[in-house]
Amino acid sequence: MIKAVRGTRDLLPPDTALWNFVEAAVRDVFRAYNFQEIRTPIFEETQLFARGVGEETDIVAKEMYTWEDRSRAESEKGTSLTLRPENTAGVVRAYIEHKLWDRGLNKLFYIGPQFRRERPQKGRYRQFNQIGAEAIGPASAGSESPARDAEILELLATLLDRLGIENWTLELNSIGCPNDRAAYNEALRKALEPLAPKMCSDCQRRAVSNPLRVFDCKVPGDQPIIETLPRISQYLDEPCRQHFAQVQTILKATGVPFTLNDRLVRGLDYYTRTAFEFTHGALGAQNAILGGGRYDGLSESLGGPSAPGIGFAIGEDRLVLALKQSAEALQKKPDVYIAPLGTGMNPEAARLARELRRHDIVVELGDETFRLKKSFEVATKLGARYILIVGENELKAEEFALKHLESGEQRSVPRSDLVRAIQA
Ligand code: AMP
Repeated sequence: MIKAVRGTRDLLPPDTALWNFVEAAVRDVFRAYNFQEIRTPIFEETQLFARGVGEETDIVAKEMYTWEDRSRAESEKGTSLTLRPENTAGVVRAYIEHKLWDRGLNKLFYIGPQFRRERPQKGRYRQFNQIGAEAIGPASAGSESPARDAEILELLATLLDRLGIENWTLELNSIGCPNDRAAYNEALRKALEPLAPKMCSDCQRRAVSNPLRVFDCKVPGDQPIIETLPRISQYLDEPCRQHFAQVQTILKATGVPFTLNDRLVRGLDYYTRTAFEFTHGALGAQNAILGGGRYDGLSESLGGPSAPGIGFAIGEDRLVLALKQSAEALQKKPDVYIAPLGTGMNPEAARLARELRRHDIVVELGDETFRLKKSFEVATKLGARYILIVGENELKAEEFALKHLESGEQRSVPRSDLVRAIQA
């Protein structure tokens, strides 16, 4: 038997109703904040992620689905392609390619699958869905303002509240800009020199090549060592310090609660200044429901103009897991089950179904080979409100037996009154 690939999964009804409910609510919230949808391809040139996300990150170093796309003509070169492990790099690539700076501040959102070769477990998959947004543009359009950071964070609080997700925690940090980072990296390297040999092999490598990534380490034995390391908060320059202070001031004014976490560095190299995560207690080990931050230098590192930006990505799979709402409650039951009774009744039943569906009535259609008893059983199992019987006599009289399944009340309804009777 052929099964779904490890780490991927099928979403079946009724759960799909929950996913649609989430996406509809999210689109409403994005509309209220004037974000518009962007769709980028699910695969890109590998170098986009190598340069954007960073060679030393777990994502690029270990988790990407990459293949050599052979050319069709001898003269063409093959290209290394990768299934997107995240969507920010793709959005910034599109920003540069389509010169979106002409539009001033771009407020964009996306919903779609991402791919990482991680060890699958509950809440962690190899194909997973992210709902994300990016506010990006020239600094003159306000893209660098702490007001943007606060707006994004407030949007997220609104979104989680709207979905009825309670007990979330917003963890906030500033990881500074390249200025601060140089001095901080130096301090980290120095502090790690005597410690690294006692740490995991990943950390030994990170300590030399990209010491900030040591904070991504999940190995329990390394945690007490990491606790002793200097923190970026001690190395922020004055502009970064002020920016971060203003984000907090605005956030406090809006009433969105947050806690500072100076160990939070996020697993991607492009982040600058504000970095954040929302966690949720009910999710267990994979408790990060979403993450994001500023990436003021990303456009330049991909060959574009200066384009400060801030964004986030919500793990939609985890969002759905955190929802209390039951999938069944969202399922729309049929308004009416049409039961064709006897040979030759299928065409007439189909005609009636088409008429009713034009009026947004949810119709389930039976089959003329079903005995009446079976039609009733199927209609009841589906949870239909009414059953409509289409037989020889009904057709002749142009009147149909319409039975309310719960009350058992049955009446004869003229064809022209059917829509009104079912909608009532
Ligand atoms: P990241 O870009 O790694 O910060 O991811 C943002 C969010 O996407 C995380 O907070 C998770 O909710 C979700 N996420 C990341 N990786 C996975 C995965 N392998 N499976 C499910 N959700 C994920």
